[in-house]
Amino acid sequence: MTFEQKKIIIAIDGFSSCGKSTVAKGLAEKLHFLYIDSGAMYRATTLYCLENNIIINGVVNEEKLNKSLDNIHIEFISDKGAGTYFTFLNGKNIEDDIRNIEVSNNVSNISIFKKVREKMVALQRAYAIENSIVMDGRDIGTVVFPNADLKIFMTADVKIRATRRYNELLQKGQKVSLQEIEKNIMDRDEKDQTRAISPLKKANDAIVLDNSYLTHEEQLNWVIAKVNSIINN
Ligand code: C5P
Repeated sequence: MTFEQKKIIIAIDGFSSCGKSTVAKGLAEKLHFLYIDSGAMYRATTLYCLENNIIINGVVNEEKLNKSLDNIHIEFISDKGAGTYFTFLNGKNIEDDIRNIEVSNNVSNISIFKKVREKMVALQRAYAIENSIVMDGRDIGTVVFPNADLKIFMTADVKIRATRRYNELLQKGQKVSLQEIEKNIMDRDEKDQTRAISPLKKANDAIVLDNSYLTHEEQLNWVIAKVNSIINN
């Protein structure tokens, strides 16, 4: 079987800030698949909620949230030449805004809601109708695409994850302490794993990748070897 004959779905799930998107993006580029960052969708929804007073001091107005969902339009626009892509919310590029600590601190309070998840999952599945796809998130292998061709579950030491995220934000000029980032990562992991609907967990048939001590190249090579093994079977 070749890529031309069948649409391939690769699901990459795992804990917060463990480099899922870097691996997923690298893999999608290499295979010429579509890359979808499902976390960006929940982040975009959270940004909308913050901007429209649907979430105030961490408290969500669920009724207002449900009524607003039809007003939230999320798109990914890729700049193929530069190998980058951007998340758009209602026609505006919000790629940088959704990575800030305020969105990070609120997103796991928004992603618990059934109607939010239903909307996101429908959008995520729609991307796979016409494309071979690499998608990263928390419930991709368990809920969104339970029949994915390959499922990877990523993890890494929490201190290493926090330091990586801290350096990334520092490079972008965002001033946040390492302690705040570590707390955010641990809080999100806890909330994402314990929520009632589609909690973060490893799918039974997912392969674990602990990247605490692996370079980007080593991770990519590891995943490509797994992809090759499914193609050749
Ligand atoms: O992947 P990222 O860290 O950007 O995800 C942000 C948040 O979005 C997660 O902490 C989680 O609450 C939510 N999320 C989710 N399901 C997904 C992807 C992300 O609930 N598939």
